[in-house]
Amino acid sequence: MKTQFTSLVTGGAGFIGSHLTDSLVRRGHQVICADNLITGKKENLTDALSSGQATLIEADITEIELKVKPDFIFHLASPASVPDYQKWPLETARANSVGTWRLLELADACGARFLFTSTSEVYGNPKEHPQKESYWGNVNPVGIRSCYDESKRFGEMLTLEYVRSKHADGRVVRIFNTYGPRMRPDDGRVVSNFINQSLAGLPLTVYGNGSQTRSFCYVDDMVRGIEAAMFTDQTTGEVINLGNPQELSVLSLAEKVLSLTGSGAGTAVKKLPEDDPEIRCPDISKAGQLLSWKPEVTLEEGLRKTIAYYRSLMKP
Ligand code: UDP
Repeated sequence: MKTQFTSLVTGGAGFIGSHLTDSLVRRGHQVICADNLITGKKENLTDALSSGQATLIEADITEIELKVKPDFIFHLASPASVPDYQKWPLETARANSVGTWRLLELADACGARFLFTSTSEVYGNPKEHPQKESYWGNVNPVGIRSCYDESKRFGEMLTLEYVRSKHADGRVVRIFNTYGPRMRPDDGRVVSNFINQSLAGLPLTVYGNGSQTRSFCYVDDMVRGIEAAMFTDQTTGEVINLGNPQELSVLSLAEKVLSLTGSGAGTAVKKLPEDDPEIRCPDISKAGQLLSWKPEVTLEEGLRKTIAYYRSLMKP
């Protein structure tokens, strides 16, 4: 019986990847983080690296060479905010296509369990609501979000094809909007923008009329879901939505952030970006049945923690 497991976390210096690394370290794993740091930050791994159980390989996942054989491979490496993947479209497409291929080969060679983090973006601008895993989506295959949406769809296909053709132990999770400490203040996501604008006394930039909806999951809940999907036995070949089904409009989110930060700066209307989905809400019944998982952190509690984190960054 093995006494210590080794996990590879690609994108380990990123927002979700670094929280996952911390959690795996707490479980006693040896964690190898691989990150090219284009959107990740080494500081996110300060605690994990000082524990002596984690190491960081600063390299592109399409080129990494490993000296040890991991037991688990969590593939999270990819720019993930809309401005980030539009700034790095080819890197995004490559991480989710060539990168996924390389990691699946590695998993196959060393018999590791594999988890691919996909996205609610595979549903595009959905015609079915809330979105179940069985829904095929409504994606613009050549639009400005397609470097992300389509490469994630490709990564899903490849993972499932490795399961079907090579009997790999792979699974896919579709991550819906997630927020919390360690989101880069300038990543351009709605939660980070709104909180940082509020704390700076600036009006919150609402794109369009703010009636578009999203459902926001706190990062600790998301990490628990990702681990459950990896460590639960019956998940091989499964595709599982992970997210918080509490849906609200962007305008309601703005009002919540203004009230929790005590800002009186109000909102400022900006142009709605191209292909911005009008609605989004996960159906998480499959995660409930298969993983006994559901989010526990309320939006208010999560926002308070995230606001406290950004406040701490502002201190001299
Ligand atoms: N959004 C906004 N103001 C901002 C940033 C985003 O109104 O400063 C909107 C955006 O148009 C979208 C929603 O908030 O409808 C969520 O955007 P985000 O980029 O966080 O995630 P995604 O679009 O990938 O769900």
